[in-house]
Amino acid sequence: MTSPSEPDAGAAPRLPAAPFPRLLLRAVRLRCVVCGTGRLFRGIFRMPPACDGCGYVFQRTDGGGYFLGSIYFNYIMSTVVAGIVLVVLMPYRPSMETQGLALFIALGGFSLWFHRYARALFMALDVALDPPATTRGPDGETRVIGV
Ligand SMILES: [Zn+2]
Repeated sequence: MTSPSEPDAGAAPRLPAAPFPRLLLRAVRLRCVVCGTGRLFRGIFRMPPACDGCGYVFQRTDGGGYFLGSIYFNYIMSTVVAGIVLVVLMPYRPSMETQGLALFIALGGFSLWFHRYARALFMALDVALDPPATTRGPDGETRVIGV
């Protein structure tokens, strides 16, 4: 029996996580945060199931919901953008309707644009806190898996 602090002998070895600034840089470039080579998105919204470069499974849980944490990143940044929009509009003293319309357009557009970055940043945080493991595929090649 192993204690919780000892690694399980049968488990796949954990990869050492890259330094967090490097993970963030890969996320900002929308590259796989594990290897830095594979693309995180094909198109605006479509995310492949795994990295082309290292095989890292992007969605580390079986069901949906893995990327729910990315909503926090999007919310925080949208709040910052809303503040900037209101500060920029302040000298013009726009009506409430104009402010609402400006916020609706700015936040809707920003949230859609930032969605990919929010996911990438969430993935970087997840990999930093819980590095993925490696395993050997049927071809004997080392593959990175999400655990
Ligand atoms: Zn990769």
